[in-house]
Amino acid sequence: FNVPEPVNEPVLSYAVGSNERGLLRQALESALSEEVDIPMYIGGKAVRTDHRVAIRPPHRHKHILGYYHYGDKSHVEAAIAAALSAKAAWESLPWEHRAAIFLKAADLIAGPYRYKLNAATMLGQSKNVFQAEIDSACEIVDFLRFNVKYMTEIYAQQPPISPRGSWNRVEQRPLEGFVFALTPFNFTAIAGNLPTSAAMMGNVVVWKPANTQVYSAHVLMEVFREAGVPDGVINLIYVDGPEAGDVIFKHPDFAGIHFTGSTGVFQQIWKTIGENIHRYRSYPRIVGETGGKDFILVHPSADVKAAATAIVRGAFEYQGQKCSAASRVYVPASLWPELKELIVEDVRSFKIGPVDDFSNFINAVIDEKSFDKLARYIDAAKQDPDVEILVGGTYDKTEGYYIHPTVILTGRPDYVTMCEELFGPVLTIYVYEDEQWEETLGVIDKTSVYALTGAIIAQDRYAISQATHALRNAAGNFYINDKCTGAVVGQQPFGGARGSGTNDKAGSMINLLRWVSPRTIKETF
Ligand code: GLU
Repeated sequence: FNVPEPVNEPVLSYAVGSNERGLLRQALESALSEEVDIPMYIGGKAVRTDHRVAIRPPHRHKHILGYYHYGDKSHVEAAIAAALSAKAAWESLPWEHRAAIFLKAADLIAGPYRYKLNAATMLGQSKNVFQAEIDSACEIVDFLRFNVKYMTEIYAQQPPISPRGSWNRVEQRPLEGFVFALTPFNFTAIAGNLPTSAAMMGNVVVWKPANTQVYSAHVLMEVFREAGVPDGVINLIYVDGPEAGDVIFKHPDFAGIHFTGSTGVFQQIWKTIGENIHRYRSYPRIVGETGGKDFILVHPSADVKAAATAIVRGAFEYQGQKCSAASRVYVPASLWPELKELIVEDVRSFKIGPVDDFSNFINAVIDEKSFDKLARYIDAAKQDPDVEILVGGTYDKTEGYYIHPTVILTGRPDYVTMCEELFGPVLTIYVYEDEQWEETLGVIDKTSVYALTGAIIAQDRYAISQATHALRNAAGNFYINDKCTGAVVGQQPFGGARGSGTNDKAGSMINLLRWVSPRTIKETF
């Protein structure tokens, strides 16, 4: 079987007067005028409870978009039971039928669900139209289409050699048990990818999204159901994380976790799995993408305008709420005056406000907890005589959770905001003496416990080569003359090592191989 050769879903422009702009407006209006009621889905059944939680847009937190039904441990147990009872039929379905379901899901998102899903992502997660389009229209479609392609390549792999008189073969079995997908708020595409990549390989899944991504998770689930994902194959539950963990990580059929979220939570999960290891039928697959403290290094040979663009876009798109966001930048003293002017001017020009005004570039951060955390870091910086706030440094949560894009200048490469992940629109810059270029490479490598993304901006090929080598373990995705965000599925498989995760590269065959357990068969004639 050959599956259609995937191509990246084109990003629509939403230009004034365009068809897509009108359709998105309609989707936003209907989402704002009708209260949505979101059940869990367990074994294909919509499950409602007495505990309803309001969904509020982060940029207008007094408004209620609707409610979702919150479950408890009994729902986690029911979801596991439903997954396990769907397992036998699902894994015996020939893989091309699984492929067809997920290709259809991709087409539904690229077509009829595009605006509904974008509207849910914009309103629920406070993404502007362009950030929503690249995430909840293009990236999720790309994940589905490219993963189907990688899946077929796995099933079509060359068999081992077979000397005369025997036939050796390797069969790719789904994992024995169920997979737990624990997904983040910041990318609808990741929330969609984590359950589907495991399901595609024949696994059954219990999916718990972040409470701040429920709206778009619900729309994704509608798509999966319409595409033909059978009842019980993906079970979507809204429950307290630790409560879910308490049931899932003690279950003998727990076969693996597909996670994107914070380093702290992932390490706690790993520990819990370790403590319960004697309970499981198999060693569970632990696949996680966690935090980042991503850098951009500017070399004295850099094109200053290109550097400014990479820094500003890398740091502030989607309010810096990407694991990949640039949050520590190293600039040579010789370029600093010019670069400073460009960065400050650019950041000052940002329009800030709600997502339904398409001209706003900066929107709210995800919730009050995140707002308060960012405000604390900003206040501490304001009081520190060693650092200077070049722009921003203010915030306001009257209407929505707005942190004004902030640039901090520090003389200390180990200043707290150069090392810790903030997950917001706060960028810290350190200026190094040009002749300290080599030392700076060492500083970058050692400053943070993370290793997700990084970039060098330079024209000098020796410098590029030197940095590529010296920083080989400092980033799983390394960019030369580009920002450190915006990996495209099929083009840059995504993931990092060290404190940033298991580096199983989202959108790759490596990732899909984690969801199968091969059996070697030798037959003697
Ligand atoms: N894949 C995204 C990027 O390259 C980041 C994903 C994340 O924030 O987890 O920007």
